[in-house]
Amino acid sequence: MKGVVYLGDSEVEVREFPQPEPGPGQIVIESKVAGLCGSDLHKYHCSRAWAQERNGMISGHEPTGIVAAVGPHVEWPSIGDRVCVYHRLGCGHCAPCRSGYAAFCDVGSGAFGRTQDGSHADYMLADARYCLPLPEEVSFAVGTQLACTAGTSFAALCKIPSHSGDTLVVFGLGPVGLSGLLLGMGMGYRGIGVDTHPYRVEQARKVGKGLVIDAAKDNPIEAIRDATGGKGVGGVLECSGNPDAQRQAATVASRGATIVYVGGGGSPDLSVDFADVLQKDLTIRSNSVFSMASYSDEVEFLLRHPIPLDEIITHRFKLEQAVEAFSLFDSGASGKVIFEWEQ
Ligand SMILES: [Zn+2]
Ligand SMILES: [Zn+2]
Repeated sequence: MKGVVYLGDSEVEVREFPQPEPGPGQIVIESKVAGLCGSDLHKYHCSRAWAQERNGMISGHEPTGIVAAVGPHVEWPSIGDRVCVYHRLGCGHCAPCRSGYAAFCDVGSGAFGRTQDGSHADYMLADARYCLPLPEEVSFAVGTQLACTAGTSFAALCKIPSHSGDTLVVFGLGPVGLSGLLLGMGMGYRGIGVDTHPYRVEQARKVGKGLVIDAAKDNPIEAIRDATGGKGVGGVLECSGNPDAQRQAATVASRGATIVYVGGGGSPDLSVDFADVLQKDLTIRSNSVFSMASYSDEVEFLLRHPIPLDEIITHRFKLEQAVEAFSLFDSGASGKVIFEWEQ
């Protein structure tokens, strides 16, 4: 089978690997769709020395596919089942692991594509306990988003007390932010998106159909004030990690609003106007990844609400085109980029 390996300094290579065999408690999935993610780009940009230390480990952590082989002592899933695989790995025994948060494992959390072979391959080996059922009605292309980006944005949205009819602002309209905007609108919010990248602004306008502010041209504080009659918004998702947006999130919030900080990678300090927080009685929260239970809630939500998450995907590549796929995704001129196999 084929798999993608980081070479360092923004290079990847497709290599030939032996097909994995499932051990006790393990399954092998035949890949159907595997997304590229912002965190894959961090690894893509790493040094050659870093890449060499990975010793040929396969990239990718947004796996979906069909179970192709099942090892001993696996009760579920079975061969032929459609599955999504939770992307973080833990000991399986500590309290966070037992509550579906392997991402916060007490012993130390790993991840596909970081601590073991990932999803950018024709077949992927996984412990059966990380498999999540993917119903027929939810496409593999949506499933790959539930495995990471849309899984994160859904969990973040669930931290905002429901204000159906209220306004939600999402700063940063990459795959996490744009899925958050669409899911929020599906939950009943009026959605407003903010970004500075022309490609992302245009894509959000096309897919989201709500108000999308190009913060490179217009002042988002004024635009949001105008759009809400001076009231501000009841919910904010900050997905950009940009210090200006982090500060603006509190400025555009209405009295009693909740802000959820999702985007990282910027300054280590969070700077907001404390008068905003205090005088408007704001709730400030953050969200990192999601639990397996949250995945189930999101699938249930999607079965009842048609959300156009498929439309976040702008580019579909064969695994053999990995060099082109990574380079295009790295340029920023794309929405969600995926590897796709025959279905
Ligand atoms: Zn991801
Ligand atoms: Zn654990």
